[in-house]
Amino acid sequence: MAIRALIFDVDGTLAETEEAHRHAFNDIFAEYNLNWHWSRDLYRTLLKTTGGKERMREYAANHLQIDPANIPVVEIHRRKTARYGELIAEGTVPLRPGIADLLADAANSGCRLAVATTTNAPNVDKLIRATMGVAARDVFEIVAAGDMVKAKKPAPDVYNLALDGLGLEGADCLALEDSLNGLNSARAANIPCLISPSWYTNQDDFTAADAVVESFEQARSLAAIRSLLPDV
Ligand SMILES: [Mg+2]
Repeated sequence: MAIRALIFDVDGTLAETEEAHRHAFNDIFAEYNLNWHWSRDLYRTLLKTTGGKERMREYAANHLQIDPANIPVVEIHRRKTARYGELIAEGTVPLRPGIADLLADAANSGCRLAVATTTNAPNVDKLIRATMGVAARDVFEIVAAGDMVKAKKPAPDVYNLALDGLGLEGADCLALEDSLNGLNSARAANIPCLISPSWYTNQDDFTAADAVVESFEQARSLAAIRSLLPDV
């Protein structure tokens, strides 16, 4: 059966955006002379606390044993959010290896392209403009974003929104994801799912995935995907 559309997750799948969040935190910590630096290993642990402000408070209290009330957390977080936008717009976060090739091959083959993401549409556009030089809608026919649905991944809502936009059934599509939350979201929408873990999700359990590749370089064309997923 032909795959009629590819539906991409954004954060961790199209690009390692979590790294831009980490760099943005570190840049602003330096601006405030905090002498804080979050390494990748530390950040993996800190990511268990969701929300940037909560993460900073947790770090102050439990890693440094200082009272978070003495840290201008809200102000730092506001600066960090702006810095994150700058880093994405400056193109410091490239597409993951293999992604550009896969997008080009799918477009040339008449396979339709969509996005189903937890982030908001302006962030998707910023990333695509910075990495491909065009608007997200020039690449993806449908951009289903987190701010358009009630429940975020692992709920199926954002994938169902993408399917509605495409006018296709889940079985006609393939979801590309990097995380267990994303996999569960795609599966709940009855969409087969190919996983390539990102740096911060490579310890997730992907046994329910239809295929797992270390890098999207192993899935850089529809032909490569067909050989990975003979039954899809
Ligand atoms: Mg992701």
